Amino acid sequence: MKKLLVLCIFCLQVFAVSSIEEREWAKNEFFLTFLENNNLPLSLYWNLDPQDRELASEIKEGERFQILWDNNTNTIEQVLIPINGSDLQLHIYKNLQGEYTLTYSPISYETQTRILRLNVQNSAYQDVEQATGSTPLARAMRNAFGGSVDFKAMQKGDEVILVYERKERMGERFGDILIKMASVEVNKKARKVYFYKDSFYDSKGKEMESFLLTSPVNATRISSYFTRARYHPILKRYRAHLGVDYAAPTGTPVRSAGAGVVSFVGTKGGYGKTVQVQHGSGYSTLYAHLSRFAAIKKGQKVSQGQTIAYVGSTGMSTGPHLHFGLYLNNQAINPLSVVKITKSELKGKDKQDFQNVILEYEKELQSFIDSNGTNPPKEPPRFERYVEF
Ligand SMILES: [Zn+2]
Repeated sequence: MKKLLVLCIFCLQVFAVSSIEEREWAKNEFFLTFLENNNLPLSLYWNLDPQDRELASEIKEGERFQILWDNNTNTIEQVLIPINGSDLQLHIYKNLQGEYTLTYSPISYETQTRILRLNVQNSAYQDVEQATGSTPLARAMRNAFGGSVDFKAMQKGDEVILVYERKERMGERFGDILIKMASVEVNKKARKVYFYKDSFYDSKGKEMESFLLTSPVNATRISSYFTRARYHPILKRYRAHLGVDYAAPTGTPVRSAGAGVVSFVGTKGGYGKTVQVQHGSGYSTLYAHLSRFAAIKKGQKVSQGQTIAYVGSTGMSTGPHLHFGLYLNNQAINPLSVVKITKSELKGKDKQDFQNVILEYEKELQSFIDSNGTNPPKEPPRFERYVEF
């Protein structure tokens, strides 16, 4: 109901003297600077608690957002900015007293499942890219198999099937594409993977990914866990935390959670001094609020466990801690689901659940095949810019 109200208010004002401007979030734009540049009060930011400030740092480069302008006074009425991967949007509006207010509200969106089925002409990657207009989808396919399939060994005519999810909001796609099931033939022999609880598994419930993380700091207390959009019953508002916070004294060494290549060293908005590392197979990690960096630079290879920086409290932070983020194909996922020592195999209730999930995918796929379903339309090009962290 609340969502509907907000939408109605938005609509009514459109008919009055307002106009909607669509923009893209600029590279390395800091939310505080955004407020400043648009004559919005900086207190909107300073009044947020640290977790909500961190969330404002998660706005993705290239993210499309809307500003509702009052054309009479040339001032901003409302701003709506989706927060990548959180199912929340940052909403700035004027309250009844006419003061600007900031809240996070759930994004009302529609999830669509799409199925793509094709026979290889050039290469699986190129063909998927060409058929859907989506490079991220082609990358996600390759990453889903975690190196277990030699895509080069695929022959002309081998079949590729992808069952994937996309989100649509206000009639346009937003956020990232998520593969639910992928099947590729190598010399007519099908290999399948299924997405379940943030990881890909084969049909027997064995995890595909051989990429494993170690904890980025020595045993310390976790002060805040990963959460996607969740209504906080006491604070009476929506919150999300797209990483794990480790409380640790300033100067504690921060280690790369996996082997990889440093993709960012510098200051990143509310995250303060930040390091990002790309690990291959679409995974990257983020280390924020650092006090200083070790002797590393962008493009440098780092090994698992190598010290890359030191814990601090830079950016928007109340005390020394490490904010540790993990992304799969640019989508924040729970780091603790991957920080472990061995590849996992589903057991017990999880395995039961997983088998039901597989059945659902297979059923969906079969009805697509039986009904001679057609492939989805191409994605509009402007949505398919791949943003490297
Ligand atoms: Zn955090």
